[in-house]
Amino acid sequence: MPHVVTQSCCNDASCVHACPVNCIHPTPDEPDFGTAEMLYIDPAACVDCGACVTACPVGAIRPHGGLDEAQRPFLEINADFYKDGRTRRGILAPHEPPLHVTTREPLRVAIVGSGPSAMYAADEILTIPGARVDVYERLATPYGLVRTGVAPDHVDTRRVIEVFDRISRQDGFHLHLGVEVGGRVGHADLLRDHHAVLYATGASSDRRLDVPGADGVTTATEFVAWYNGHPDHADHRFDLSHRRAVVIGNGNVALDVARVLTTPPDALARTPVSRAALEALRVGAVEEVVVVGRRGPADSAFTLPELVGLRSAVEVVVPPADLVGLDDASLKHRAIRDLGREPSGGRRVTLRYLLAPAEITDTGVTFTRNAPHTEDGRTTYVPTGETVHLEAGLVLTSIGYRARPLPGLPFDERRAVVPNDRGRVVDPATGAPVPGTYVTGWIKRGPTGFIGTNKTCARETVRQLVADHNAGRLPRPAAVPSPA
Ligand SMILES: Cc1cc2nc3c(=O)[nH]c(=O)nc-3n(C[C@H](O)[C@H](O)[C@H](O)COP(=O)(O)OP(=O)(O)OC[C@H]3O[C@@H](n4cnc5c(N)ncnc54)[C@H](O)[C@@H]3O)c2cc1C
Ligand code: SF4
Ligand code: SF4
Repeated sequence: MPHVVTQSCCNDASCVHACPVNCIHPTPDEPDFGTAEMLYIDPAACVDCGACVTACPVGAIRPHGGLDEAQRPFLEINADFYKDGRTRRGILAPHEPPLHVTTREPLRVAIVGSGPSAMYAADEILTIPGARVDVYERLATPYGLVRTGVAPDHVDTRRVIEVFDRISRQDGFHLHLGVEVGGRVGHADLLRDHHAVLYATGASSDRRLDVPGADGVTTATEFVAWYNGHPDHADHRFDLSHRRAVVIGNGNVALDVARVLTTPPDALARTPVSRAALEALRVGAVEEVVVVGRRGPADSAFTLPELVGLRSAVEVVVPPADLVGLDDASLKHRAIRDLGREPSGGRRVTLRYLLAPAEITDTGVTFTRNAPHTEDGRTTYVPTGETVHLEAGLVLTSIGYRARPLPGLPFDERRAVVPNDRGRVVDPATGAPVPGTYVTGWIKRGPTGFIGTNKTCARETVRQLVADHNAGRLPRPAAVPSPA
């Protein structure tokens, strides 16, 4: 009876090194780690010792016998990863050597932002004896999207807050809330007191839809921030008076929004959802959320664990005409194909495919129907000329995130990241590092990955920073006396 990784896995890989038989994959040193939807336990190799359960910060690992109804599909999801001889029993790459500083000068680092990437970076830096980290956060509460993004009913995922609280309690950790760097406090101010400034500011703005009527349409980001009580969105009002809402885009955030809109308010009341959102949802009339993708179901952007979670929370249906191009070999494709076809009449989420938004009006959204076109083994989607209008009150776009440029730092407009080499900020004109300036998290690599993905990302940046400190490449902070 093996142990099983379930939905709340955030890919931080803490379990990997806890496992005595190396049966949890992909590991951070395996090529598919960066794209994995979660980590998986090899049922043939697991010896059921339970060490991984203790290591997991979000309670994602359960013994086979302890799975509830909603978690049971994860038995197959874990096993499926190891099908086709993918069993991996290799020796784990050894832990990287501990960080150490070869200069007499105790390291001082300013971190801008307090989301997961900032917290993992601080944890890594504080393994160095005598190091000091000052974390500057523009909001009055720390931990970034873990508080203002992660859905309130993802209670297990939010348990990572306990890990961040433990990091905050370490000697050398100093948190400065309500300080927006780039305003009253600037980069040069931070460099006067620190050897380096590490930006972990995330990607707080949205990609915008470019169709008539899209100006002024609410984004899923704004809606998520509202139901999570983000102070910038506390006064927002949303039209919940219509029985149908439409979400354009079908990633995990679209599923979060659809789930929150269709969950009975009494169930949401047991979560940290904002009181204003809860009251608005109580009096709202939304019964159906239609989540729309312009491509086919094989290109659904959501992950399989999130679809499994949605399916166990609310009825999910998909019209048969939209089910093209699914492959029997893929567990995710099978899960989509096996969804209900006919709604039973209660609250539900409907997945729609092959619909490209053409115009947003007062009555809803008009789409152009696409059809798949395969040539040389590559499938593209071409307009058929047919239009489909979905009546709706609330219309949300959820088509991705974009980082904002930071004052005084270079910015790659196309990728919406600060140009960097493994976390060292570089001048795009010369490729030379900008002294004492680093990035981690979504501002470094773009809005991809899970909470725990930021741990590996932060570790890479901190290793570059410490190497630069040891090599004397960091500017001396003017306000810090030289060591005697
Ligand atoms: C809606 C949503 C739901 C998600 N749900 C999940 C989930 O369920 N499970 C999961 O594993 N992952 C989830 N993710 C992904 C996860 O949240 C991200 O991987 C992670 O938060 C990125 O971390 P970060 O540190 O780069 O950025 P963020 O978490 O965005 O943190 C950036 C921080 O910097 C602060 N900041 C920005 N500018 C400044 C400034 N100038 N001065 C001071 N502070 C500043 C911000 O206020 C913020 O606190 C979700 C993402 C979104 C958007
Ligand atoms: S129960 Fe033990 S053997 Fe099984 S995955 Fe967890 S740590 Fe590895
Ligand atoms: S959250 Fe981390 S420790 Fe838990 S199962 Fe996922 S990778 Fe392993």
